[in-house]
Amino acid sequence: MPEPDRKTSGPTPTSAAATGTRLDPWFGAYAERTHGMRASEIRALFAVANRPEVVSLAGGMPYLDRLPLDVLADIAQRVVAQRGLVALQYGSGQGDPTLREQILEVMRLQGIDAHPDDVVVTTGSQQALDLVTRVFCDPGDVVVAEAPSYVGALGVFRAYQADVVHVPIDEHGLVPEALDETLTALAAAGRRAKLLYTVPNFHNPAGVSLALERRPRVLEVCRRHGVLVVEDDPYGLLGFEGDPRPALRSMDDEGVLYLGSFSKTFAPGYRVGWVVAPHAVREKLVLASESAILSPSNASQLTVSTYLQTCDWRAQIKDYREMYRERRDAMVGALAELMPTASWTVPDGGFYTWVRLPDGLDAREMLPRAVTALVAYVPGTAFYFDGRGADHMRLSFCYPTPERIREGVRRLAGVVAGESEL
Ligand code: PMP
Repeated sequence: MPEPDRKTSGPTPTSAAATGTRLDPWFGAYAERTHGMRASEIRALFAVANRPEVVSLAGGMPYLDRLPLDVLADIAQRVVAQRGLVALQYGSGQGDPTLREQILEVMRLQGIDAHPDDVVVTTGSQQALDLVTRVFCDPGDVVVAEAPSYVGALGVFRAYQADVVHVPIDEHGLVPEALDETLTALAAAGRRAKLLYTVPNFHNPAGVSLALERRPRVLEVCRRHGVLVVEDDPYGLLGFEGDPRPALRSMDDEGVLYLGSFSKTFAPGYRVGWVVAPHAVREKLVLASESAILSPSNASQLTVSTYLQTCDWRAQIKDYREMYRERRDAMVGALAELMPTASWTVPDGGFYTWVRLPDGLDAREMLPRAVTALVAYVPGTAFYFDGRGADHMRLSFCYPTPERIREGVRRLAGVVAGESEL
């Protein structure tokens, strides 16, 4: 049956959207793409999950209590007192030149060699995702993405009416052969994938990383199929063992858009991220960003820039890594002891572990009962474009203390045991 024309006839009275019509007199005026934007079905539950008595293993908020707030207050004061007329003014659409130089220094830790002109500062890497999708995707275009994928990226792709085709991953990340097969099948069906969206380090939500030996192979497959790689890497410096892995961008200047962020290595509140792009793409991204926001916040950029210049940011990252490693240990230790009927990934960095529930359990159906038991998580379905994932849940170990993590897993194990008996 053809879709009713929303602009003229409006929804049928029996559809869920009819409620929207009564509540929202402008329902019929929305752009087609707006109808694809939806609040997560679990949002209401999260309002409850944020109550202090609930152990939330759901959110991905970094734990900021270790930041030197007095030093940051001093920096904020100095930025306004000494450079206020710049900090409070509009700025460059591409971002502050000094900060762009400093971003190069950060990226060098992952082997990226770029020029400051290649960098576009964004309002968090979330805006970079929006700009990249806006610049490349028409409605119906295909974005290939890991199964599962970061929920916030899926939301952007949906908002631009792109179609996401998932590619399997295993404990070593994206599987190059599966990627090749998927891209070949798409081409055979006459569909061109525009982008590969990937989180190669400490994946959100899967907690795995792309093996070093697979990196050149993924790049080779994408090059062969003419697909641009979007490397989303907010966690790359938050590894628990060894040196940071080389970024995909360090192996390919022309075929990769690299997305970085200070949200997890410093603080998300400044909303400073960036994208590194080949020259011509960079120009388009700047135009798109100027039309969206004119320029990223100078006040935030100068504050982050002064922090990088005057504080030992490497030591801060080391401190974060040690703290998150302790929390990872608490999480996997508690799972092994208290929830042995499930299985999970053991991340060597980042914020998340991806838990497979015992057979027959449904993470989405179980969530209200978990919240009643005062523990919250994100059901796996949030991380797929196509409704899969009910047998998984994402557990975050970034925010609660090790004791709270253990308590959260204890509560969750009780819920899982109760479900298994049903
Ligand atoms: N990408 C991934 C994989 C993330 O996990 C997040 C934050 N949760 C973002 C992008 C967005 O980060 P921000 O906009 O704060 O830089």
